Amino acid sequence: MDSNQTQHTASKCDLCGGSTFEEISNRDRRDEELFTGVCTGCGLVAHIPVPSEEEVSAYYAEQYRRDYHGESTPSQRRIMRAWKNGERILKQLFPRLNKEMKVFEIGAGIGCTVKAFELQGFDASGIEPNKDFNAFTREQLKASVENRNLYDLPAEPTYDLVLLIHVIEHFSSPTRALTQIHNLIKEDGFFYVECPNLAAPFATYDRLFHYAHIYNFTPATLIALAKKCGFELVSQFTDESHPDIHMLFRKVDEKSLDVSPAEAERSKAAVHRYNNLTYHLRPAYLGRRIVKLFSYLQEFIFARAFVKGLLKFCNKKK
Ligand SMILES: [Zn+2]
Repeated sequence: MDSNQTQHTASKCDLCGGSTFEEISNRDRRDEELFTGVCTGCGLVAHIPVPSEEEVSAYYAEQYRRDYHGESTPSQRRIMRAWKNGERILKQLFPRLNKEMKVFEIGAGIGCTVKAFELQGFDASGIEPNKDFNAFTREQLKASVENRNLYDLPAEPTYDLVLLIHVIEHFSSPTRALTQIHNLIKEDGFFYVECPNLAAPFATYDRLFHYAHIYNFTPATLIALAKKCGFELVSQFTDESHPDIHMLFRKVDEKSLDVSPAEAERSKAAVHRYNNLTYHLRPAYLGRRIVKLFSYLQEFIFARAFVKGLLKFCNKKK
């Protein structure tokens, strides 16, 4: 170990229970102070210290107030983007599903993914802790999304598929969240998760960390966490170089902790893999930027007509 390495023993690791974190960054993406560490026991990357559930809730309440100034309708571009994302998820999972399945999304946002599943014939619903867009979701999109907290739901096996899209990195304890999700899923049911991929990585080192992402997963640490909470990997839809992890798990009875200190070295290597130049010159990055630019242009031109048509359709359905 380097002599200038800073070690922290303040928080207990949410994955392995270890208490030694090696500091890997002390700045966030806006160059403000934020301590990030890697657990030397399992490679999990997290804030030091990890904020409590209450601190996380207070942060979101404040952030939404700042970002949306009490607006109750999401922008048309935001709706169109969320809708296309929901359709992509549906298409990705469709071959594994049957329409008898009860689908439930945790952190459903505007509700577009829930609605996309419902329109395909699934019994689909969800919860979203933020209230701001809830009236829009229910009254205009007509999606079944309740303003409830995950931990307030009765811990009974109710759903065949639970979706967690870019939410797991925001929990104060992903172990607590996945344990509750395990309770909510029927025997042999599925759990589908998407989150940023630290192993890709999804940004250059100086832009990697920010307060809202309490945890930064690699495919290995995400699989270890799922296994610990009673899930086995069924399918991985994105490869190691993709900026997002997309994984489908199945609920199993066995819960086992399968971690290795060697993962800490892999997590550290991943964080430092790209500098600004090599990051932006990756062929995969350039390809994705071009696709993204086109989709921004498309959103700019078509969002208004798209959302108008979508809402008309959703309102006719019920
Ligand atoms: Zn750990």
